[in-house]
Amino acid sequence: MNNLYFLHSLGCKVNSYETAAVGTILEGGGYRPTANVEDAGVIVLNTCSVTGKADQKSRQHISSFRKRNSQAVLIVMGCYSQTHAEQAVELGADIVLGAASRSAVLSLLERFLSTKKPIIELSSSIRRETYEELGATAFCENARAYLKVQDGCDNFCSYCLIPFLRGNSRSRDPRAVVDEAIALTASGYQEIIITGIHIGGYGKDLADGSFRLADLIESILNKCPSLPRLRISSIEESEIDEHLLSLFEKDSRIADHLHVPLQSGSQTVLERMKRHYSTDAFLSKLSAIRAVRPDIAITTDIIVGFPGETEEEWEETKRFCQQADFAEIHVFPYSARPGTAAARLKDLDPNLKKKRVKELLALSRELRDSYESRFFGRKLPVLFEDYDADAKVAHGHTSNYLKVSVPSEEPLHGQWKEIVYNSSIKSD
Ligand code: SF4
Repeated sequence: MNNLYFLHSLGCKVNSYETAAVGTILEGGGYRPTANVEDAGVIVLNTCSVTGKADQKSRQHISSFRKRNSQAVLIVMGCYSQTHAEQAVELGADIVLGAASRSAVLSLLERFLSTKKPIIELSSSIRRETYEELGATAFCENARAYLKVQDGCDNFCSYCLIPFLRGNSRSRDPRAVVDEAIALTASGYQEIIITGIHIGGYGKDLADGSFRLADLIESILNKCPSLPRLRISSIEESEIDEHLLSLFEKDSRIADHLHVPLQSGSQTVLERMKRHYSTDAFLSKLSAIRAVRPDIAITTDIIVGFPGETEEEWEETKRFCQQADFAEIHVFPYSARPGTAAARLKDLDPNLKKKRVKELLALSRELRDSYESRFFGRKLPVLFEDYDADAKVAHGHTSNYLKVSVPSEEPLHGQWKEIVYNSSIKSD
């Protein structure tokens, strides 16, 4: 076996962060990265199980990597493997880690190399885990770096498997978070994105539970005075507290964008989803956010076609989205997850679901066009991140997450430019 490792991550940014973390650990053990799965001695695949389609994709990647490289040690981790460990081994995995034990990857590798027997190393008490520190991780996209601060969830929304796959909500030691933020800023990253499975739950499990997400963000901003921009990935309405709003008011380095999952605009559907807020509370929280940041982009997630969703409830959701004036809506057709409470409910006709998805995507497009047009003619600071060498076009984002593409003879990674925003430079 050679000392080359190949990484592949499915699903969310937290998965990408953890996959990069395992890569860093392997490098500590003398392994080197390769971009070709065929050349690798060790393959690491991080899986997802948020929908039935994600399960299928996870299975396909396990068997395809095994076929493309029959010699390598195949390590499979993440949400799919947490509940399908045997299937993963049947498909060709050598080491299965689930949503824990990633930090032990080197010793497990050694054990496998000496025994050649498949290893399944799952947490026996996934709902009673403590935060697994994977060390500082170089998971970055050119100018932006993701910083994981929390794992797991305790909300048990009726349609979601995450609390069963990722386990209890657990927070990373704030000192480790701030140290990594300082290291990322010192190495020139221009934007840090705070990420986790349910970051609004940060701190509940630490000491007396009083040091929460806003306190953590304040520490990062204070300890990283030269960090130009900090972005919050996704946060529940009920967890946007006064302290966080005051930070938005005080520190313009916090990006002018919040992703606040709504899931449905109908109160009765929210109750069947076991979501912990009312549509009225959600709207008044949006007003409180806009009071401190009038131009902020508020984006959201909506599950379309939840069991029993009547025509009237659907109309309520569409009306609510217009009232909330979202900058964009991420649309998800409901997908029954075995083992969840909602999976026992009768699913909607797939054609009706498809029709509603189409309607909401069209509404999201309208809302996005209207939000973007508000900034036409305005000069906005843009952080450039990507470059298309063929087209000679540089891509970047504004603070309120407007994507900008401008012609450029050379890459502009990590550079800031004041750009007059208009329809010719906006991009999807
Ligand atoms: S808040 Fe709800 S939807 Fe989000 S991860 Fe937790 S259980 Fe799932």
